[in-house]
Formats: sequence, C-alpha cells, structure tokens
Amino acid sequence: MKKRVFAGDIISHIGEEITFTGWVHARRDHGKLVFIDLRDRSGVVQVVFGPSIKNAGELRLEYLIKITGEVKKRPQAMVNEKTPTGQYEVSAKKLEIISASEALPIPVDSDGYEVDEEVRMKYRYLDLRRERMKRNLKVRHDVAHFIRVYLVEKGFWEIDTPILTKSTPEGARDFLVPSRLQQGKFYALPQSPQQYKQMLMIAGVEKYFQIARCFRDEDPRADRAYGEFTQLDIEMSFVTQEDILQLTEDLFTKLCAEIFPEKHIMQTPWPRLTHKETKEKYGTDKPDLRKDKNDPNELAFSWTVDFPLFTEQTKEDFFHGSGVAKFAPSHHMFTAPHPDDIPLLDADPMKVRGLQHDMVLNGFEVGGGSIRIHDPKIQEKVFDLIGFSKEQKEQFSYFLNAFVYGTPPHGGIAPGFDRFIYAALGEKSVREVIPFPASAGGTTSVMTAPSEVKKGQLDELGIEIKKGNKQ
Ligand code: ASP
Repeated sequence: MKKRVFAGDIISHIGEEITFTGWVHARRDHGKLVFIDLRDRSGVVQVVFGPSIKNAGELRLEYLIKITGEVKKRPQAMVNEKTPTGQYEVSAKKLEIISASEALPIPVDSDGYEVDEEVRMKYRYLDLRRERMKRNLKVRHDVAHFIRVYLVEKGFWEIDTPILTKSTPEGARDFLVPSRLQQGKFYALPQSPQQYKQMLMIAGVEKYFQIARCFRDEDPRADRAYGEFTQLDIEMSFVTQEDILQLTEDLFTKLCAEIFPEKHIMQTPWPRLTHKETKEKYGTDKPDLRKDKNDPNELAFSWTVDFPLFTEQTKEDFFHGSGVAKFAPSHHMFTAPHPDDIPLLDADPMKVRGLQHDMVLNGFEVGGGSIRIHDPKIQEKVFDLIGFSKEQKEQFSYFLNAFVYGTPPHGGIAPGFDRFIYAALGEKSVREVIPFPASAGGTTSVMTAPSEVKKGQLDELGIEIKKGNKQ
C-alpha cells in the first residue's frame, strides 16, 4: 500500500504516486472528467478522475473515499490561487469508497454562522467538519500545548483535582450530584479548583497549574457558556502580585506571538489601571483599549488592580452569606486585603483594597486572581464580614484547619481558557471555540442532556421527584 499523504503535504510529493483519504467536499461532473475536492484534516485537494475510473460517477458530497494517484502541477489556466494547494491536483488511478454519506442536514462548506445554532449543536460532529471550526479546535490544542510547555519549563507541576467535591464558592450556583452511598447527601461540582490549589501550596508544591474544568449553574452570555468552562488555573507560593502579573503577561505575550502571528498586542508592558481609574475613565472595570475596534488583529490587554475587597451584598449573594450582611467579596472570599488596609477591616470595610488582579482583553475579563489570605484569623474575619453563620463557618473548618500548619504566602490567577481564545479570535460567541458546548438553553450538544432517569436509579439515590416538577 502506498503511504497516506495529507492534503496539506502534497506539495512535497509532486510526480509521486500517493494514497489519499478524505471526504468529498465538492464535486463537478464534466461527463468524461469528474473533479472532486477532497478534504482531510489538513485541507482540500483537487482530484481528477478520468473515464477509466468507473465508480467516480457514484460519488456524492461527504462520501469518504480512498484514492491512489499521481500528484501533478495543474496547467497554468487551471491554477486556483485562492487555496494553498491550488497549483496542484491528483490524477486518480484507483478509487475506493470507504463510507457513503447521506445528504447532510447542515452545510459544512460555509462558515456556519447562517445555520440555526440548535441544529448545529445537534449535529456538532458534522458542524466541526467546517474549516472555521476545525481551525478553532486546532487553536485550542495549540494554546493548551503552548501553555504546558511554557509553564513546565518554568518549574510548574500540572496537578489535577477532584470533580466530585464540596461546594467551592466563587459566587455562582453549584451543580449538585446526589450520593448513593450516603443517601440524602450531595457532592458539588467545583466552580474552580480554588481551595484545592491553595491546599497544594500548603502541601509545599510551590508552583501548580491545571487546565481545569469548572462548573457554574449560571445563565449563558456571549462570553460565557452554560454549565462548564475551562480555565488555566495557576497558583504559586512566596510570590508578590507583581510576580503573578509578570508571569501571566510574559506567557500570554509569547503565546500570542506564536499562535496568532497576524495579530499585534497594542501595548507592552500591558497597561495597568486601578479599579477607580478605569471606572472613572471608561465606566467599566474591563475597558476595551483597542484603537480600532473593527480591526480583528488588535489585541489590547490590560490589568485592572486595586479593587475594593468588598462590594455591597445583593440578594444574589446568598451563596456567601446569610443574606443580611452588608458585604460581598469582589473576587472571592480567599482574596487578601491590602496589608496597609488591615486596620480598616474593623473601621471601614468598604474602604479596604483587595490584592486582586483582573486580566482584560478587548473589553472582556479574561482572567482573575489574587494574593490569598494565609492567616486563619484574617480568613475568619472575612467570613464574619460576609455574614457567615457559625454553621457556614463550620462547613469551612477543614480549610481554616489547614492553615495552622505552616502555610506559605501564596497567590495565583485563572485566565479563562475558552474565553481567552474567544476574545483573541474575535469569535461571535464562546460556544464557537468549545468542542461540544451546551446550547443557550442548557441542553448539551448531540447527546441532549439533561434527560430523565429510571425510577430504579432514583430509588438507589433515595430521591423522589416532586409531583408537578416533571416536564
Ligand atoms: N478561582 C478564581 C476564579 O475561578 C481564580 C483565582 O482566584 O485564581 O475566578
């Protein structure tokens, strides 16, 4: 058997006989000659079938075929300058139909924006065949790979943390998973690995990262998928806020140069704005600092720092406190107060600055982090201020306990992995860069979860569905 060659590589096989496997992307039947654009993961190549290839007439769009043929330079008049392989074609000698295809329910040769999103999600495995989606998947892979190489070289360890866990309060609603072994009790899916990464610092890991899946039961928006998302979770011991900003800035500046060479970063070092400044000047804490907002190649990164540690508590903050306290954490309840402002925790909590940093790109908050509290007394004080009851504090006793055994000062950040790629590519919604996202209505792609379960499964869990709640 001849070696299988990818479309993108045919240029280096001119004059050779090769085997090529791909899907029929386009088809032009000129009677004696049949022209097929054959597509594989790397691109598209034109294949010409002469009259000796009898079954060429059977080919339809998206048939998966294998051909053997010779790579040739096209006659000058036939050159297509628009595609990278447009100067070449394969003259087929043999054709094998591996899998036929029914007519597709959605087109895959367009950018796909024109197709109803629900239908795209139902057939996501076809939707991902389109070039734009394949590029997005590849960018996702490249970004993950770059991050791993960069951080490992800097001495970070990639460590995973549990998915079945306890509520990790980041301010959103938890997803709950019922326990079979301890009926009536629930796990929560992690809103982020926040507490685990802090415990890894107590464990002496010093430099941790994880490309982590996080779960939050929040309404979707253009920049937020429903249910789950991925973030680059980073934590370090013995660092200042400056160290965290510098590492993140260097990582993303280099990453952009490598993965988005056509794009340019507006300003390096990235501008740093205090929360007060940016609110006064731009009316937001995530300003869009691009000069020309229509230019897809401008990347305007900035930092927002010096956030107030607390904001006024609203009704939605019931996850944090009793709902009667005045204060809610601006970031999360583990963010350290500015050392100069510690006395204000008693005197005037709203004036306390937090050591929080937000990473902003083109008007999107693409990451957030902070220096953490490592003194259990201050942690308890913050719990009190956000209105934790004795019972709620007890729920966190494992965390406070961990802090009494020689805790290093530590801090970190968690740039949103999907959200960064979405903002950098200037995509229309974050779902465009997630392989199998849930729809805006919360239904998962292809498999259409959530779904009902058998009564026996509920019995095992000791769960009964209230009458009237069944759809
Ligand atoms: N856990 C935080 C979040 O998910 C990030 C951090 O503080 O490192 O927003």
